[in-house]
Amino acid sequence: MTTPAKSGSVNMEPKGPPNGGGGDVRPIRTDTQDAIAEVIDSMEQGVLVWSEDAICEMHNQRVFDVLELGPDDLHPGMRRRDFLSMAVARGEFDADTAAKAEKRFDQLAPFSFDRVMPSGAVVATTARPKKSGGFVVTFTDVTEARRKEVELEAQRKKSQAAEVRANEALAHERTRKQEARGLSQLDEWLQSCKSLDELLLIVGKFLSRLFESSAGELYIYSNSRDVLDGACSWGIETPKAHIQPDECWGLRRGRLYQYEKGEVNFSCNHVSDSITDDFDGRYLCIPIIAHGDTVGLLHIRFAAEDHGGDAPPIPAERVEFAIRCSERISLAIANVKLRDELRDQSTKDPLTGLYNRRYFLELCRRELSQSERHGQSIGLISLDADYFKKFNDTHGHDAGDLVLRSISDVMMEMFSGPETVARFGGEEFSILLPDTTPENALERAEALRQKIESNVLRYDDRALPKVTISAGVASFPANGTSPQELLREADRALYQAKDGGRNRVVLAEPPAGQATAGKGG
Ligand code: GH3
Ligand code: MG
Ligand code: MG
Repeated sequence: MTTPAKSGSVNMEPKGPPNGGGGDVRPIRTDTQDAIAEVIDSMEQGVLVWSEDAICEMHNQRVFDVLELGPDDLHPGMRRRDFLSMAVARGEFDADTAAKAEKRFDQLAPFSFDRVMPSGAVVATTARPKKSGGFVVTFTDVTEARRKEVELEAQRKKSQAAEVRANEALAHERTRKQEARGLSQLDEWLQSCKSLDELLLIVGKFLSRLFESSAGELYIYSNSRDVLDGACSWGIETPKAHIQPDECWGLRRGRLYQYEKGEVNFSCNHVSDSITDDFDGRYLCIPIIAHGDTVGLLHIRFAAEDHGGDAPPIPAERVEFAIRCSERISLAIANVKLRDELRDQSTKDPLTGLYNRRYFLELCRRELSQSERHGQSIGLISLDADYFKKFNDTHGHDAGDLVLRSISDVMMEMFSGPETVARFGGEEFSILLPDTTPENALERAEALRQKIESNVLRYDDRALPKVTISAGVASFPANGTSPQELLREADRALYQAKDGGRNRVVLAEPPAGQATAGKGG
């Protein structure tokens, strides 16, 4: 018969014969026990006592409220196994938790866990062994406390995320400032560059700083424009000497090419054979465009980091920054090239690429004052193609130009380093030989005469008749101390060579000396 315990009184009455165990419960009522019973019944928690043999010995009235039990769901004499099964069936906790609880009961070890009641209330269940055997279990409604804990945890996570975001923003701002500072320093240096070589040196140094953990190369189109030459690099031990323009998707498409391993895209040929362990496959190829012309390529590869799998995409800010750097470099290259072109226009002859008369005279002046200081002699050769008017008239002006360029090439090949070759106009040339004796200059001029005489040229599929030169050699200090004096004496010797029959070299006579002539064959 169902006899719900009176509210406010601890129930110790067994309800029916509980599988043999209930018969042993002997309610004892003394004054002290009544007092204890009253205390237990007034508690906030539900209290339930299991006997050593897992039978409900007693419980307070509060347990019905806390565990949301009906009057028939619990009574002294009830088996613990049935009580636990009922809780599992109600979904308060899972069978695994029930099994664990049983194990702890068997081990006489205290334990606690949370159960969720049908109403959603959370009840902390705490079991402690009794000295005399069995367990006392208390059930505390901790719904509010747990809700607060969850709220607190959410709050903590939120503020942690906010802190991470703030730190990221700070780091980002710091990087942006560093980048801006780096860029303006780069600008300043680039603006003071006097030559392309200087510019490349500066670019290499700056890029290694601005893209510290990366590696890269800068390529510049060769003058022939069929290949790009490796101009500078950082983070790579041996940069490539050359690449072909069609080896690079960036150059082929005329715009930034961003390669990421996982993406559907293709690696450039100039990259595939230089992949190393330190390189995780992500790279940028940025064409360097100056005044609308593609003049080079900036290639940046990103270092392999510990990604534990696929590398993340290249950060958009890094791509942006790389583009900004490439724009600065483009502008600087354009400026240097423009300056070089202007200088070339004012110092060089367009047909042969040799220095012009004006620049040659300037160089002569500098060389003379230096040689005077160091007590060195200088050789000066004046030369002129023989019967060139006739050659032009017979074979045409274009064939004549070809001959002039070929003579220039031979001169540039034979006179390099400190020596300077110039075209004075028409078929007249001059060569300056610092730190050279008159005899030596004469020998060099004779070697040049022979070389030009033996030169065979083809034009329009036919061999051209050979063109010879006549030359006059003057020296500092033997023939004069100013460029004008030296040129006049060299020209005088040249006329002597012409008068002597052409295709020969004449050494200018020193004021009190004699002329020497090397005759050609
Ligand atoms: P010589 O042996 O006395 O030096 O006889 P020459 O015919 O070489 O002398 P001249 O100074 O009378 O002729 C120079 C010729 O060089 C005149 C012109 O036809 C030719 N010439 C001058 N400048 C150029 C040029 O830029 N290109 C070509 N193809 N010919 C040129
Ligand atoms: Mg001539
Ligand atoms: Mg002439």
